[in-house]
Parts: sequence; structure tokens; C-alpha cells
Amino acid sequence: MGVFYVPNLLTKKDSSMVKRRPVFEQLPESYLFPEINRRKSLFLEKSPSASLISLGVGDTVKPLPTYVAKRMEKAAALLSTDEGYQGYGKDQGLVELREKICSRFYSDRIAVDEVFISDGAKCDIGRLQMLFGGEIKVALQDPAYPVYLEGSILQGIETITLMPCLPENAFFPDLSKLDQHDLIYICHPNNPTGAAYSHQQLQTLVEYAIKHHAIILFDIAYASFIQDPTIPRSIYEIPGAEKVAIEVGSFSKMAGFSGIRLGWTVVPKGLRFEDGHQIWKDWRRMNMTVYNGASSVIQQGGVAVLEYEGWKEVTNVLNLYQTNANKLQAGFEKLGLKVYGGKNAPYLWVHYPGRDSWDVFQDFLENKHLIVTPGRGFGPSGEHFIRVSAFAHEEQINEAISVLQSDEEGLTL
Ligand code: PLP
Repeated sequence: MGVFYVPNLLTKKDSSMVKRRPVFEQLPESYLFPEINRRKSLFLEKSPSASLISLGVGDTVKPLPTYVAKRMEKAAALLSTDEGYQGYGKDQGLVELREKICSRFYSDRIAVDEVFISDGAKCDIGRLQMLFGGEIKVALQDPAYPVYLEGSILQGIETITLMPCLPENAFFPDLSKLDQHDLIYICHPNNPTGAAYSHQQLQTLVEYAIKHHAIILFDIAYASFIQDPTIPRSIYEIPGAEKVAIEVGSFSKMAGFSGIRLGWTVVPKGLRFEDGHQIWKDWRRMNMTVYNGASSVIQQGGVAVLEYEGWKEVTNVLNLYQTNANKLQAGFEKLGLKVYGGKNAPYLWVHYPGRDSWDVFQDFLENKHLIVTPGRGFGPSGEHFIRVSAFAHEEQINEAISVLQSDEEGLTL
């Protein structure tokens, strides 16, 4: 028998221990949701009988479409047979799924081998950040989904420019003020502001990228919530985008896949690095090294989502969330507040000029028993706003609306 030598790390001298990467020091404290939970617990200690309604979390609540769940059951059962068993999947994901993504979302203007199936948009954004590394300049919207900033910090990127997105600029960055940057993050429709961008706005983005040799990282995790037919659902609807944009999509909010994980990334073959090398080739190569594909069962579920029956069920659920958003919008507007978003996105961005967004959060918690998200948690330009999520059951929304309308003493909302 061989003897294995297991070094005793505990007896190692401090100087020879593994060094922590300093970038972890620069990460903002994971503050927002832990702090919301801390305040919630404190409140419940004082008022244990209070029943709180959450309009704070950006996660789906409706069950998976049965058509989709049944397809996954079938796919799982097949794996338990000799004939049906399969191990690792195809590079870039199931061809049938990629074909369906191309025809449903891209009217076939994107080639099947430009689509890469992933285990979700967040994971792919992290891998894309590895692809571009730390020697680049990035610009991102403020407020923004935190992974753009935090993933950039983890890569050791030193130039990270926050582009304020406020009512004055229709929550779209003023690109005429931005000097050369290599990577621009845009989320459309936007989390947290709920803004969705016009063809013309996105055209200025593509023009900026062409002029400055930048790459756009376009996050369409919420594109299925777009109602207005004039609003683009993909950056590739803008001429020239296929030369400058990578698009990241997700089944999470579209079809309730946040727990089972499925997404995709489009890297057009026309995208090049400075030396002329295809970005597509390096992305494919990198995925071979660090990624082994999304679950085969879940990919079958994704195929079912994009079939006629699955899409019908998914659309019904999306419509329910949209109805929630409409009701919430009317409810907040009745209070005389300016409400943004909510029309092409599951989030409302409610303005409280001059007020600290944590104070507004606290007022809602204590006086209305509603949980909202303070805008400051998404970046400095989120101050004076709260994010209200339409991901809730109808009864909760109705209750929230009636609570909103009730006139209680001491209320400063
Ligand atoms: N992009 C945005 C803007 C999001 O808000 C989220 C989740 O909240 C994601 C991506 C994550 O998507 P996924 O669940 O596919 O990782």
C-alpha cells in the first residue's frame, strides 16, 4: 500500500500561506439583501404578528409551465434507460435549442453556431469577464445589476466608469460624454430602473462602439417583458451591432428557470480583437476549458419553452406579472408619485425626490408592512428611488395595493 503525504496546513508558517487576492478587499460589502433581511428581522422581533408582503426580490414566483415540466420529466426518465442514456452534451449546447433560440429571438439573423447555451446569464457574464481580463476600461450604467461592477473588480480592472442613468436622460447613458472604453454594459430592459430603450437610443450605442472600437455587453434577461412593438428585443435589430455586440439571454425570468438554470450568449463571428482574431474562437476555446455545458434535462425544458404550447403557457405567466406591474403603477401614481419602468419590465422605479432610499424602505416596512428595495443598493444614482418588483402572486399585489391606499397616521411616504 502506498502512503500519501498530506501536508498539515495548520502548521505552515504565515509567510508561506496562500495570499488573498487584494481585489476581494475592493468588493463592496454584499450589503443590500442582507441589510434588508436584517431590518426585516428587527422589525418582526418588535411586531411578531405583522405579516409582510415582499415586493423586493427580483425572483419569479409562478410555477413552471406544465408542458415544460413534463418534457423535463420525460428527458430525466430517458436517462435511466440503456438506449436513452447520454453523458456530456454537445459543445455550445443542444443544436435543437440553439436553432429555436435563433428563430424565436433573432428571426434567423444570428447563425446557430454563434449561440452558446449556458447555465444562466450571470454565470456567462462572469465567464465573459474572464475572457476580456483585467487590462481593459469598462463603462456601466448607474444604477446597475451588481455583477457588472463586482465581476469587473474581480478581474482587477482599474478603470470602471459609472454612467448615471436618471430621469433627465431617460435612464440611458449620455454616450457623448464617454471617452474611449473597451467594454460597455447595457441592460435592456433595465434592472433596476425598468427602462427599455428605443431603436434610436440603441443606435447611438452601436455608433459609439463602432467609433471607439468598443464591445457592447448587452444583457436581455428581461427582454420577454417588452410589450411595446417599437422597442427592439435584441441589440442585433440595430444595423452594425453584429460587429460590436455580445448578447446575453436568460430563461430565468422569461420562463421561471431561475432555480433550474438556463441561458444563452450570442457571440457573432464578425466580432474581432484588436489583432483581428475572432472573439468567437477564444470564447469557444475558453468554454472548452472552464465549462461543461448546461444540464441536458434542463435544455430539453428550454426546447419545450420555445415550442408553441410552451410559449403559450410562458406568455400567460408573463401577462400575469405584467398585470401586477400595471396595478402597482396605478397604486403608486395614486399617491402622487412619479413612477418609471413597469411597462416593458417587471420592475417599477419609484421616485422620492430628496429622500434617502433607506428611509423610504424603512417607512414602507414599518407603516405599510411592505418590503421594497432601496435604489441606493444598485449604485449612487439609485438614491431617492425604490425598486418595486411585480414578481408576486395576485393576492399579494391586491393586498399591497389596498395597504398602499390606506391612510394611516404618521405615514411619511
Ligand atoms: N441579468 C440581470 C439584469 C438580472 O437581473 C439577472 C437576475 O436577476 C440576471 C442577469 C441573472 O440571470 P440568470 O438567472 O440567468 O443567471
